[in-house]
Amino acid sequence: SSVTPQVQPRVLPAGFDERTFNATLNAMVEVVGKENVSIDGRDGALEGAQGQKFYGDIWPMAEEDQHAPSAAIRPQTVPELQKILKIANRYKLPLWTISRGKNLAYGGSAPIVRGTVVLDLHRMNKIVEVNEEYAYAIVEPGVSFFDLYNHIVEKGYDVWPSVPALGWGSVLGNTTERGFGYTPYGEHALHQCGMEVVLPNGELLRTGMGAQKDSPMFPLYKGGYGPSVDGLFYQSNLGIVTKIGIHLMPAPTHFLDCSVSVPNEGDLEVLVSKIARLERDNVIQNHTSVANLWRQAMMHPDPKIHEVAIGPGMKKGESADNTALAALQKEQGWGFWKGYFAIYAQSGTLAHANWDLVQKAFAGVSGAVCTCSEYSGKDGAKLRMTDTPEGEIPHNGMPRMTPIGMVNVRGYGGGHVDFSPLFPAGGKELSAWYIKARDSIKEAKLDFFSDFHVMGRYINGIICIVYGPTEGPRAKEVFEKLLKDARDNGNTTEYRTHIDFMDHVADAFTFEDSALRRFVTDLKHHMDPNGILSQGKSGIWSKRKLTSVL
Ligand code: ADP
Repeated sequence: SSVTPQVQPRVLPAGFDERTFNATLNAMVEVVGKENVSIDGRDGALEGAQGQKFYGDIWPMAEEDQHAPSAAIRPQTVPELQKILKIANRYKLPLWTISRGKNLAYGGSAPIVRGTVVLDLHRMNKIVEVNEEYAYAIVEPGVSFFDLYNHIVEKGYDVWPSVPALGWGSVLGNTTERGFGYTPYGEHALHQCGMEVVLPNGELLRTGMGAQKDSPMFPLYKGGYGPSVDGLFYQSNLGIVTKIGIHLMPAPTHFLDCSVSVPNEGDLEVLVSKIARLERDNVIQNHTSVANLWRQAMMHPDPKIHEVAIGPGMKKGESADNTALAALQKEQGWGFWKGYFAIYAQSGTLAHANWDLVQKAFAGVSGAVCTCSEYSGKDGAKLRMTDTPEGEIPHNGMPRMTPIGMVNVRGYGGGHVDFSPLFPAGGKELSAWYIKARDSIKEAKLDFFSDFHVMGRYINGIICIVYGPTEGPRAKEVFEKLLKDARDNGNTTEYRTHIDFMDHVADAFTFEDSALRRFVTDLKHHMDPNGILSQGKSGIWSKRKLTSVL
């Protein structure tokens, strides 16, 4: 299937004819210049996973042009953005905000409603400040994890950023989507402090202490005064976030890159419950990512291992060969499950004391294997990220793109979508669900790739569903089955989802006749009466509900 969104016949926003649309775009050109307005979705400034330049979903699961944008606009400053909103309100032009537009597995830079204009903020890419003493950064939407890391390394600051699995995305976009990284500051939303927002009517506001003019407390004290409103702009279409403060981890002097493996498929519960306990006790300070056998094989640096694991059937659309995987496990001495985490400390004694507690916790678990590589700064000095190796997971804050190769295992040009349900941290519910989900994925002839994040009090049971170039509809079908199961069983819906499923997931939040969704929808009507911003985001629509015009 082709990855280029279709442009013939031309896609227009709902309610627009060619003439009005051109007039609107011309008004935008006045603001940002011709070079920063794309008149169709192909002429993208964004790069897809395989280098293609366009706006949209790199790996559509179903009909390719269901989410095709009609154009894109790339402002560079807040005043330009404010002018764009003024024009959009005048013409009732629908916009879809993106920062770097990667949003891999959740819809890329595609809007929900076909014909929406992409508002691409990647040119707003200033690192406003990195403060070493208090360990925070203030960034604009276009700043990627690579940009922030490079800046810190260049300046030689003793702070470590938290980065997700792939480093190309936006720090701000990831944070406001409630994304994760892998240091103790890995729950990015928790460590966001201070926010600047442009409202749908073009007004500019700062949250928290930022509301007091020029307060140095903007990136330091999250509370502010009165109701906190930062949360209104998470996974939201109530505004456009133009700056955030984010706390960074002061560099440790000691860093232990660790893992625990358990031998049997049935050991999942004991593994995650013990890990979660260690996290609650603050023995392990970051969250643990749990890989199954398939993921250990696919993420292995040796490509020969991938070939053995894939087996002969996969290229014909089968799932991975369990017998080959079991043989590989035996040969390599792997566990069925492997949890990856790290220990960070300001002294060797503290680091080793924590590591001893981890080993003690697993001493009674038959077949459990704990491993650890230790790094320390010279003579008690802070440890530089660059003095540690890349490692399997970016526990040290170094961004990378290595895992992206995985999307091609079922044929070049495949894609992936993440199913991300939540569970209590004890592991019982996760284990019960795992058996059902594993069988559903197997029935769909796809593979179960676990990226379970154990967070002390909850588990984010992420499955990366990889599909080959022609297997998108099959992936979508199994995804819908998993969602339905989550809804029917009431306890396992997602924390974040692909644009195709935003209403589905919102539908699960039914307490008091969906009071929360009605409340946010009321805010949406009030704040964005013309319905210009990111319609449908997280299941929130304005009264002027847009439908696509084909
Ligand atoms: P990344 O490049 O980090 O993957 P994106 O730029 O694709 O992130 O953003 C992911 C999603 O977050 C977007 O689809 C959009 O819904 C939302 N989003 C991104 N940037 C902003 C922003 N500045 N303000 C409000 N919402 C945003």
